[in-house]
Amino acid sequence: MNTSKEYAISLDKLDILKHFKDEFYVPRDKIYLDGNSLGLLSKRSEKAVIEILNAWKQYAIDGWTEGNYPWFYLSEEIGKLFASLVGAKPEELIATGSTTTNLHQLLASFYHPNGRKTKILADELNFPSDIYAIKSQLKLKGYAPDEHLVQVSSKDGNTLQTDDIIQAMTEDIAIAILPGVLYRSGQILDIEKITKAAHERGIIVGFDLCHSIGSIPHKLGKWEVDFAFWCTYKHLNGGPGSVAGIYVNEKHLGREPGLAGWFSSAKDKQFDLEHDLTPAHHAGAFQIGTPHLLSLAPLIGSLEIFQEATIESIRTKSLQLTDYLMALIEKELHGYSFEIASPVDHASRGGHVYLTHPSAASICKALKNNGIIPDFRAPNGIRLAPVALYNTFEDVWQSVQILKEIMEDKQYKQYENKRGVIA
Ligand SMILES: *Cc1c(COP(=O)(O)O)cnc(C)c1O
Repeated sequence: MNTSKEYAISLDKLDILKHFKDEFYVPRDKIYLDGNSLGLLSKRSEKAVIEILNAWKQYAIDGWTEGNYPWFYLSEEIGKLFASLVGAKPEELIATGSTTTNLHQLLASFYHPNGRKTKILADELNFPSDIYAIKSQLKLKGYAPDEHLVQVSSKDGNTLQTDDIIQAMTEDIAIAILPGVLYRSGQILDIEKITKAAHERGIIVGFDLCHSIGSIPHKLGKWEVDFAFWCTYKHLNGGPGSVAGIYVNEKHLGREPGLAGWFSSAKDKQFDLEHDLTPAHHAGAFQIGTPHLLSLAPLIGSLEIFQEATIESIRTKSLQLTDYLMALIEKELHGYSFEIASPVDHASRGGHVYLTHPSAASICKALKNNGIIPDFRAPNGIRLAPVALYNTFEDVWQSVQILKEIMEDKQYKQYENKRGVIA
């Protein structure tokens, strides 16, 4: 592959998504490669937050039903905007909770140990919060996590094999919780194949899409995934603590949620204030209490951008960006002990590149001091996420040049090889 700066500039000229960059507040004089941890603020999200504040100012209590975005229906309305990103029907989607609380809700709703089927299948590479939630749900049911949580192991420490996952689907597994894209290596799991194998074995299967939503397309409905959940502050640019999402396959709709609250109600029944819940025949039934309107608001703007850009175009550019980044790394950083630990093939590579290096923490600090914002992940990983909506090919070129200088001059040795509080 041509790795020259001129080539990068020529790719930027041809980029059909290039106009979106101006919609975002990109930190001045920095190259932001951390949009998979916290996406950037867009002007449309900022406007939407002000709009919701103004509705509060203008309508007070009547904001629930008045204004451009009546609050009572906003979680369902935003849910509809997830449809094209995950391949699901509007009624299968709701904006609610956080990733972890949604996993608690979904386990409370779908984990029904029965006879021999009592165990939960997960993997050893998943994000800790998911594992903590699974363990606490096991304990609530009176099961010891040591025995009842089965974690598929990784052969190389970075990726999982579909066959290993399927082999772990033994008779005693009731439910499987797996990521769509692994948060460190960025590997995409074969959701379709895993779901099919799970169903053949009578196992319910749910996916954590935190790192896949907004970076790759999904067809959850076609693949018949039972449920999925995700955050919206990574690739979806919803802002710190923005409201998360849930998908529940239509065949499961209409039942009572494991964790009920008055927002689980059918909308027309909610204000009857009866003590017997009539659950919504909609994924909205998995809501619990009053929605966090101020944290939903940014999604009005950010998801509109995704509708316009389309996830297919985002994915096409994202693969071009990571292909180019990997080619540059191979060419320019040869001999500096880096290893590309993300999958090379397009079918299994998500939206970021994962580099490992024994001095990863020091290198990340040096990059940050040079205006490149990466993401350190313990113990030895550097995540680099060139984001299709606001990064350029020139950003990628420039970042690798700076990384090369940091290695050539051994600049990174000035920094302690230890993570900060966050990364
Ligand atoms: C980011 C992330 C989370 C975060 O959970 P929150 O409840 O949103 O704090 C959970 N799981 C995975 C896989 C993640 O990537």
